[in-house]
Amino acid sequence: MSEQSTSFPDGLPRVRAEIDLDAVRSNIRALHGLAARNRAGVMAVVKADAYGHGLLPCARAARAAGAAWLGTATPEEALALRAAGDTGPVLCWLWTPGAPWRETVEAGVDISVGAGWALDRAAAAARAAGRTARVQLKADTGLGRNGCPPEDWPALVAAARAAEADGAVRVTGLWSHFACADEPGHPSITAQQRAFADALEHAERAGLRPEVRHMANSPATLTLPESHYDLVRPGIAVYGLSPSPEVGLPQDFGLRPAMTLRAALASVKRVPGGHGVSYGHHYLTPGPTTLALVPAGYADGIPRHASGTGPVLVAGKWRTVAGRVAMDQFVVDLGGDTAGAGDEAVLFGPGDGGEPTAEDWARACGTIGYEIVTRIGARVPREYRGADRPGEEPAAAPGAGRGADSGAGPGRNVVNASDSVRSGA
Ligand SMILES: *Cc1c(COP(=O)(O)O)cnc(C)c1O
Repeated sequence: MSEQSTSFPDGLPRVRAEIDLDAVRSNIRALHGLAARNRAGVMAVVKADAYGHGLLPCARAARAAGAAWLGTATPEEALALRAAGDTGPVLCWLWTPGAPWRETVEAGVDISVGAGWALDRAAAAARAAGRTARVQLKADTGLGRNGCPPEDWPALVAAARAAEADGAVRVTGLWSHFACADEPGHPSITAQQRAFADALEHAERAGLRPEVRHMANSPATLTLPESHYDLVRPGIAVYGLSPSPEVGLPQDFGLRPAMTLRAALASVKRVPGGHGVSYGHHYLTPGPTTLALVPAGYADGIPRHASGTGPVLVAGKWRTVAGRVAMDQFVVDLGGDTAGAGDEAVLFGPGDGGEPTAEDWARACGTIGYEIVTRIGARVPREYRGADRPGEEPAAAPGAGRGADSGAGPGRNVVNASDSVRSGA
């Protein structure tokens, strides 16, 4: 009952996230196909370590499959792309006064500006660097997060025009972000589209000539073609998850989840009925049974809210997390079925091998698929499948300011050995 499987090889980690780069590439092509109907290109969002999938391998895969632009939240993420040799268009949008403004200007990364103070910082950094800052003005069309509110927009546009006349900045883009695009039919969607059209009209009348105008996140890319403008800006869909069940299933849009989280059972044993399981004894075995120990816990990004509810494929069946998720491990009740130490537990994946999906985990934990994949921790090695294809040419992308990653030409476009297993960010 508790023997080790003899077939289990040495050297395989206790838990690992397999990242299918073929899926990332085919997702980009599917999104590109939707955007291209509206003559739009793709900005693949690779913030937060590419939603937990690994910044650099995913960025390279996205470029190779036709993403003309990459988007990051922080300047540090954008600078990491440059440090790795990416030379294509990149926008980053989460700025604070103490951020690396000058390095970012020097790196030729587009800076999002939603307020006068940020425009001043970008212009000052440009003067210090002796070059023009590329800035994209962000309109708050209703999200209420970053971005310039409509009443301040004329002043920001005028200040940006003046900074262009000085040679300090060039306004390369005008953009905004949806609040409720993942709830198709939500009344805020059309209100935001109208507000964005107004902001564009004002900016263009004031003389701004942006390279790109963009608004569509994943749900809008999938469901709102009239929001595509020059670029779509998908994140979660790049990694093959649907933004929400209301939008649809990944396969409805030709998307395939790229992450599969697997663990090797650390223990399997028989216990009598009435046996308490894990901290607090919130689970008591209903009768004599087999308990399997999955060596992954909240330190690895397994939500503690999955206690008593998270689904796992073990020995051919879905099992449920028994009792609490601990820092490093949790238990599943095999109900008397047989398994051995080293046998595989699949927490989530694309679902076509019978395993649960990240969406199943999200439902079990009261969260969204985004959080399930993004929170997988630095202690979990990422293992890449589907090396970059040498010679795969980026598709032509309208709205592409500059070329794709010049470091990813034929024959050099390979995930190298040091990337093939890495320890997160
Ligand atoms: C995260 C993010 C996106 C991507 O959103 P998805 O819903 O993952 O497609 C796009 N734009 C901005 C500003 C973001 O912060």
